[in-house]
Parts: sequence; C-alpha cells; structure tokens
Amino acid sequence: MKRIFMSLAILAAAASLEAQQPAAPAADDPIRTLVSRLDLEKYKATIKGLTAFGDRRQGTTRNQKAVEWIEAQLKSYGCANVERITYEYKTRQGGGGGGGQGGGQKPPDPTIASGEVRSGPGGSRYRGITRRTGVNNDPMRQPDEKLRALNTEPATDGQRQEVYCTKVGSTRPDEMYIVGGHMDGHGWGEAANDNGSGTALVMELARVFSMPDVVTDRSIRFALWNNEETGTNGARAYIEQRAGLQGKEDPPGSRRYPEPRWIAMIQHDMMMWDHGMPRADGTYSPEQRPEADVNIEFQSTARWADEAMKLAFFFRAANEKYATDYPAAVGPHMTNTDSGPFMDFIPAISLRENERGMHTGAGWNPTWHQPIDVFKTFSDKDFRLGLNAAQTTLSGVAQLTNARLK
Ligand SMILES: [Zn+2]
Repeated sequence: MKRIFMSLAILAAAASLEAQQPAAPAADDPIRTLVSRLDLEKYKATIKGLTAFGDRRQGTTRNQKAVEWIEAQLKSYGCANVERITYEYKTRQGGGGGGGQGGGQKPPDPTIASGEVRSGPGGSRYRGITRRTGVNNDPMRQPDEKLRALNTEPATDGQRQEVYCTKVGSTRPDEMYIVGGHMDGHGWGEAANDNGSGTALVMELARVFSMPDVVTDRSIRFALWNNEETGTNGARAYIEQRAGLQGKEDPPGSRRYPEPRWIAMIQHDMMMWDHGMPRADGTYSPEQRPEADVNIEFQSTARWADEAMKLAFFFRAANEKYATDYPAAVGPHMTNTDSGPFMDFIPAISLRENERGMHTGAGWNPTWHQPIDVFKTFSDKDFRLGLNAAQTTLSGVAQLTNARLK
C-alpha cells in the first residue's frame, strides 16, 4: 500500500515532467519569483558564516557551535519547528583514525588512461587521468596559523546533535520532501566546499520557502546532517529515530504531524568545483570550466531506482527551465552521501558539482578534504555553480509542492 501510495506521488511528478515546455517561464510564474529570491551574495555570505567554525569536524566544540549557529539562522528565517536530533557516535575500531569515507579511495597517482577498466565507487568507471585522494590529517599542511589553531581540538566519541526545520504544507502537512546537506567536514581547512556549499544551499532554500507570503501544499523538511564524513551516521540516526513516526498525527485531531510521511529525499554535497580532469602533469585548471554542470545522481541498485531516476530527470527539467547559468546532467551512480541511507525507503537523489564516482572519486577536485578547502580558494564562477544547484532544487521542489505566493 505504502509503495503504491509513494509511486503515485512520484508519477504525479513525472506527469508534470511531460507537461514541461522548454520555453521560458511566464512573467507571472510564482516559481520564477521564488528563484529570483536566491542571490549570489547571500549564498556566499552563508558559506562564509559556516567557515567561521573551521572544518566543523564531528565530535568537537567547533562542530557543536556550527550546529548552534545554523539553528539560530533557521530561526531567524522564520522556518517553523526548528528541532534537534540527539544521538551517540562511537568511532568504529580499526576504522583508520577518522579517515572517513573519503579516505577509502586511492586511485594510482597519476594514472594516464590505458584501456583497462578501472572501477570507482557507486558502480562508476574511471576514465582518463586520476589523482590520489584522501583526508588530510596533518595540521602543518594548513599554513594559516589561526585556522590551524581553530581546527586543533580532536574528535571525541559521545553525544552528537544535528538540526532541521520544516515548511508545513497547507493541504498535505502529513507528507514531506526532505532537502538535505551535511554540515560536518574535516581536513584542516574551512570545509567551504565540502560541505559549506551544500549546507548553505539548504539554508538558503529554508530562507526562501519560509518567507511569509509563500504557500506549499506538501511539507518540506530542511535537514543539516552531522557525521556524514564518518559514514552518514547522522542521517542513519535520523532514520532510526524517526522512520516509525511517519504520518502520525500528534496529538490526534490536531492536523500536526511531527514526522510527515517521507516522499523523496534530495541531498546536496560539494556544489562549487567543476574544473575538469587534471592535466597530464598533475596540475589542475585554476578556472571553473565553461561547460561546468550540476550532477544529479540516483543509484541504479536502489529499491526505488526507477522512481529516483524519474525524480532526477524532473530536477534536470527544472534546471533547464529556471537555472540561470549552468545546465544539469543525470547519472545512475549516486554514492557516499546522506541520500544513500534513504534510497531503499524512498526515492533519493543527490546534487553535486561532479559525479561522486568517476569524477570526485578519481581525484578531480584537489580541494577535497584538504587544507585548501577554504572560502578564498573559490571564485564567483565556482560560487555560481552552487547557486545554480540551489535554483535547480528550489524550482524542482516548488513545483512538486505546488508552491505559490499569497
Ligand atoms: Zn561531503
């Protein structure tokens, strides 16, 4: 029954996909108005705010302070029901000292394309030049002494928190889309791109959807996961604590649903850097490539793969209609981010700067988990790619929830 129910919601999305015309939106289109409320300087300012907490490594005071700061921002936007999830995190023994999931992939360095099949994470295949990846654990590789000091406190096992808020739907408050990004990072930088860029995107959408003149039929939850870098533990804690509460009215007759039924999950992780394949000499293009795109991924092995694929193409169409600068592309190898734990419960997709498998996994982003993942590394062309991903998700979710202005 549940499966049929959710399929219908997604089929409704697919039906409106067919109805989409490539033509520009009408002048009085409320979704275009909502998209216009996103702004490059505001997006940059939110990323900048997050970088004040250094690399925001889980299990540290700087991480906890970042959770508090995010919570205060969400409240200032008027986002309803700002709440925290509390859970325990204990480092797995033999896990390699907090290297996290990013530390697991070590392609040869460098490897020139040779014709052999080299597989990457998520079912992907590496092509062309790959570079070594991993998590920087050496403080002395951070030349900024103030930032080095800020990042010095090590992670300790114990209680963790993460925050979310909700746009309550006017006619279907019992159903919701989850829009997520992870707020923790590591590597002795400022986690500006991974994942200040995705966190700021989710916060900016919370800001726009929470404006007093915006109405949606269904609910939207904005979630800032913690502990992604240790293996999506924050998203898993959320599922463990709240999956069973879905759709329950509490108190009965109140029309209040503390955990609306999940319809789909849209994750955002590393939104800004698409500079292309490294060069044969191991250097990188310092500029965003003009052909940069937003990569929307679903996972072809997921229980809800077909529905997630439709959802991914629906977001691609939303990008085509509403995003100002950069296009979007769809791929089937979503992996290593918080949408993973959801993908067998509901249709789940992720938006990124690159495909996580064949691009990021192959070492195409030299800032990934490194001391140079700081605000000043990125140009407006980089920030603008993140803004275009925000335009994509905002317009996609706005259509799915029938967003309009009072
Ligand atoms: Zn990330």
